[in-house]
Amino acid sequence: MIVGVDVGGSNVHGVILSSQGSGIAEATRDTPRGPEQIFAAMCEVIDELLAAAQPDARDAVVAIGVGTPGTVDVRSGVVENAVNLAVSDPWALAQLLRDRYGVPAHVDNDVKATARGAMAWLASEHVSSLVYVNVGTGVACACVANGEIVRGADNIAGEIGHIPVDPAGAACACGQVGCLETVIGGGAIMARLAGQAQSISDLFAPDAEGKTALETERARILTGIALAVELVTLTYGADRVVLGGGVISRIPDVIGRVSEILRTRAAHSGLLTSLRLHERVRLAPAGIALAAIGAALTAAPSGEDQKGK
Ligand SMILES: [Zn+2]
Repeated sequence: MIVGVDVGGSNVHGVILSSQGSGIAEATRDTPRGPEQIFAAMCEVIDELLAAAQPDARDAVVAIGVGTPGTVDVRSGVVENAVNLAVSDPWALAQLLRDRYGVPAHVDNDVKATARGAMAWLASEHVSSLVYVNVGTGVACACVANGEIVRGADNIAGEIGHIPVDPAGAACACGQVGCLETVIGGGAIMARLAGQAQSISDLFAPDAEGKTALETERARILTGIALAVELVTLTYGADRVVLGGGVISRIPDVIGRVSEILRTRAAHSGLLTSLRLHERVRLAPAGIALAAIGAALTAAPSGEDQKGK
């Protein structure tokens, strides 16, 4: 069996999978702030999973995988810059897990773990490559190609939020101007909305229809998301682009709306027509713990993760 844990901003969610990759049990705790507190919550989740799987489950667990926000050195399992979790100093999470549970532990960035989980979710479609695009407070993506997460040098592949897309756009926290994150990132959207709508959900609520300023903002966000789909497809050549994250989940019928924009853009471009982008886009399912499942599969020793292959 393999344990996978997703450390999200709101919840620590864990799954325990059989060696064939099927789910056995799930467990959740609220996410506290600070490394010791989060580790304690993770241990509660893992202990509950081990108890639910079977009384002597600890003997049968071969690995633990974790997906977490922040910069992760996947070789050492050290997490840095997990600002939203109030983890400021380097956090040797994999070592802590190995010491406590006595099994190999793999820690990965949560977007990369989600991409791995999405690949398993779409296993029946037999796709060779997939990109998961996370549009939340920040914007990032991860590609899984031929069963492997594309990492690039320094694990930097997928930081599309900081690709400049608008030379006349807003300043970005990274020091550049007009990054994709300044167009579709949740923080940037809320800054632009100041006073006009209370939330992204309000922006897309039926009673906001017809308000011209909000209409412009909705179009800007949806066009930006469509641009992200085009960008990752042209970059990675992915068969599927899965959209998820806090901004995506607050837009009703987001796939329908983005697909319509993609079809409209394709009407003027033979290249885009040939790519059939609207057929590649999927919404990350709300009820499936893609990040936790992906974390488990990423931690699995070779031969233990057939489900995702
Ligand atoms: Zn930037």
